[in-house]
Amino acid sequence: MTTRRPLVIGNWKMNLDFVEALHLVQQLGVLMKNRPVEHTDVVVAAPFVDLRSVSSIIDSERFAIGLCAQHVNAQENGPHTGEISTSMLTRLNVEWVLVGHSERRVHYFMSDEIVADTLRSVVRAGQHAVLCVGEELSVRENGEHEAFVAAQLESALHGLDEKFHALLTVAYEPLWAIGTGVNATVEQVHEMTAHLRKVLRSMSFSAPQVLYGGSVNTENAATLVRESDVDGFLVGGASLKAESFYAILQACDDCYAIKR
Ligand code: PEP
Repeated sequence: MTTRRPLVIGNWKMNLDFVEALHLVQQLGVLMKNRPVEHTDVVVAAPFVDLRSVSSIIDSERFAIGLCAQHVNAQENGPHTGEISTSMLTRLNVEWVLVGHSERRVHYFMSDEIVADTLRSVVRAGQHAVLCVGEELSVRENGEHEAFVAAQLESALHGLDEKFHALLTVAYEPLWAIGTGVNATVEQVHEMTAHLRKVLRSMSFSAPQVLYGGSVNTENAATLVRESDVDGFLVGGASLKAESFYAILQACDDCYAIKR
């Protein structure tokens, strides 16, 4: 792990209604108050309909938890039935947005062009964009994974005004590891984070923050964080229970405290 402050984002996907979401945040907040997570930034990516209630409880209980949307439309307003804009998120104190998660790319036809437009809308709104990149298994088997993710970065970030660079976080999420129980190995994560940082630096990003996502759990988090130079995690399944998410936060926190 690098000596940058870790970031862990829980992606709840299409789980938890607003009552369940409140319950989970309350449990997580209590765990974090009993034993604070001092060195790690904690963010939850809730479904749209949960954002208002989760925002209220974070605010009223003063929990050190940031709020993230799982997606947003690139347009500001207008005839986009079923969609949500960045200004709507701003009104709900949302400071983070996942951009181009593979489930959106694969199942909801989010093209590279839409990913690039969405990312620009997010950073122009002053929100942190978490750009998700990652390859299918067949791409890795063909040895093309590095070129594939470099092309994803290029297409999403080319020409992005430097004043927005600090709002970018990249999440490396190989598709074969998402929700499968098969996580990337320490070596694979290490190689890919180094590669992503190199590509980002060649595009003038000075201190790119790179997360890993894909079947991170309480068993593998400590090893991945200790033995690779990843800056933190994007966590799906294991973020749905306060105890398992909190254990991942603690693994990052302990590691950072030792390495600093
Ligand atoms: C994700 O959806 O971003 C993810 C990493 O999921 P999981 O942790 O369940 O593999």
